[in-house]
Amino acid sequence: KSKGKNRFQLFHHGMEQRLVRRMALEKDLRRAMKRGGEFVVHYQPKWDTRIGGPSGFEALVRWQHPELGLVPPSEFIPIAEETGLIVGLSRFVLQQACQDCLRWERDGYGELTIAVNTSVKLFDSHLLYDTVRESLEQCKLPPERLELEITESIVIHDMTDVIAQLNQIRSLGVKVSMDDFGSGYSSLGTLDRIPIDTVKIDRMFVNESHLPAKQAIIRTIVMLAQQLGLEVVAEGVEEEQQVALLIESGCPVIQGYYFGKPMDDIRVRVWLDDLAYK
Ligand code: C2E
Ligand code: CA
Ligand code: CA
Ligand code: CA
Repeated sequence: KSKGKNRFQLFHHGMEQRLVRRMALEKDLRRAMKRGGEFVVHYQPKWDTRIGGPSGFEALVRWQHPELGLVPPSEFIPIAEETGLIVGLSRFVLQQACQDCLRWERDGYGELTIAVNTSVKLFDSHLLYDTVRESLEQCKLPPERLELEITESIVIHDMTDVIAQLNQIRSLGVKVSMDDFGSGYSSLGTLDRIPIDTVKIDRMFVNESHLPAKQAIIRTIVMLAQQLGLEVVAEGVEEEQQVALLIESGCPVIQGYYFGKPMDDIRVRVWLDDLAYK
């Protein structure tokens, strides 16, 4: 009985610690959003094996906390979503990403695309369309160069409303891709209901692509995408054998540490220079 009690206390203590950290982070997140300067956008290349170069980058936000150091998005994005701070944060990422993408072009790196992650909360708030339009207008980036990544969690929402918002956004010329495909709640059926341009094969399948069953899933997703007229991208690619398997399976666009980790703007330029892209 006393053992049970101790265990309860340990469990309780751990929960309390997590709650304390979470509350501190929430407070700091509000402060950081107000003051600015603590968030940085990094970019990870999407490599198109058909052209042997990058087609564009995915924007991934980083929080440089003044005392805690780098806080991973997996920890602060959920807090930003629960508190509504995600709207302001997304606006910042979107504007920064569009601006950097246009500057790369201006500086001779070519017409690269930029993908930005979205949150279900942006659809709930109905602010996504206006935020996207304003960001594009402000930095004069051609809409076709911007891609929004949505996740399957969107299917638990009012689908008619989500579809209407996506159609509105796509009417601007902006592209939409389904992130982490195959990992979530949805079934294959969502692919023909949600208006998208691209499917991103979840990292989990790539990770275990040495297994025949996972190879079968990858090939099936590629085939499905092709038959629906969608582009397909694989993410989380770290090894050469994975690259070979994906190309062989008909997935020529690849993202992952193998071709490049997320980098800040300065490192992106060095990376592009090294490719002798100029
Ligand atoms: P995600 O959208 O699925 O992004 C891909 C994640 O996988 C990134 O983690 C990236 O650094 C990591 N990754 C890329 N290549 C590899 C690889 O080869 N191997 C492994 N093991 N990992 C790889 P990150 O940057 O920590 O972001 C985590 C998640 O946080 C993202 O997952 C996304 O859901 C969310 N996130 C990041 N930035 C934003 C943002 O600006 N807005 C929103 N709403 N969510 C964001
Ligand atoms: Ca993503
Ligand atoms: Ca993903
Ligand atoms: Ca994810």
